[in-house]
Amino acid sequence: MAASAFRTSSTLLLHFPHSSHRPSLPFPSSSASWRRCQPSVRFMSTRVSAAASSDARTLQEGIAGFYDESSGLWEDIWGDHMHHGFYDPDSDASGADHRAAQIRMIEESLRFAGLSEDPAKQPKRIVDVGCGIGGSSRYLAKKYGAKCQGITLSPVQAGRANVLAQAEGLADRASFQVADALKQPFPDGHFDLVWSMESGEHMPDKAKFVNELVRVAAPGGTIIIVTWCHRDLGPSEESLQPWEKQLLDRICNAYYLPEWCSTADYVKLLQSLSLQDIKAADWSENVAPFWPAVIRSALTWKGFTSLLRSGN
Ligand code: SAH
Repeated sequence: MAASAFRTSSTLLLHFPHSSHRPSLPFPSSSASWRRCQPSVRFMSTRVSAAASSDARTLQEGIAGFYDESSGLWEDIWGDHMHHGFYDPDSDASGADHRAAQIRMIEESLRFAGLSEDPAKQPKRIVDVGCGIGGSSRYLAKKYGAKCQGITLSPVQAGRANVLAQAEGLADRASFQVADALKQPFPDGHFDLVWSMESGEHMPDKAKFVNELVRVAAPGGTIIIVTWCHRDLGPSEESLQPWEKQLLDRICNAYYLPEWCSTADYVKLLQSLSLQDIKAADWSENVAPFWPAVIRSALTWKGFTSLLRSGN
């Protein structure tokens, strides 16, 4: 069945459209070729050159190595979840419980997507695309009594996620493997909730990414994408400002990210796939308090520099 034939309800949640909201990160930059971060988008590219596919491989190896090395340190400080917290922009976030804010991010995402609290309508089969150490999967497996399957590029993360699921008595409901989000090892139409929490920014081909999410979604299912985007371009703009590109380059270099795109770009892509109920939101203000907390933790975190690849 073609993905575009699904009556899949797609919910898209996005934050960071405004690159100017990001702090200037004090991270060193690198010149490796796949790390180029031109925030222009090439949608629906169907032919991949040899150079592009070798860039994609290098990127995948970089992402896997980055998370293999950094996940244990991150877990020590931040626990199960490798994503932002969600905050009320009007309240004082100094002294906030950041782990609680990470759970709030999950709950706000579900609420935004309109997932019903009615047990009869709750998801039963969930895929966690870019699962980290499986924090979302375990949370959702418990919340919904659902079966979750997570994929990550990092063997260390997949192993740790399985250990944690077993330790929490969830081995029969949450399982994890190394697999590529752009080529998922799942049949068409399998999941009634497709969940991608802050993994989309790593995907070098957004069209392929979105197509795979749609392919594995069941008819009537829901897709939730929470990801980093640059701001939407104005009607007379062809690209971001040079200073914005420079800032994004630095973030790309630090976090193994390929090209960025905007929220509007994602929406256009989703619209081209005949999905229903597409919703998008900018949560930049809601996640902003998380960054100072991460930077504060880094200052007391001796091993942090090993998280960030210096120029090579
Ligand atoms: N969603 C998790 C982890 C976010 S970190 C959480 O919220 O805790 C980003 C995750 O995306 C990592 O697990 C990384 O391995 C995964 N990832 C990045 N590119 C991927 C790809 N092409 N295929 C599968 N996973 C990918």
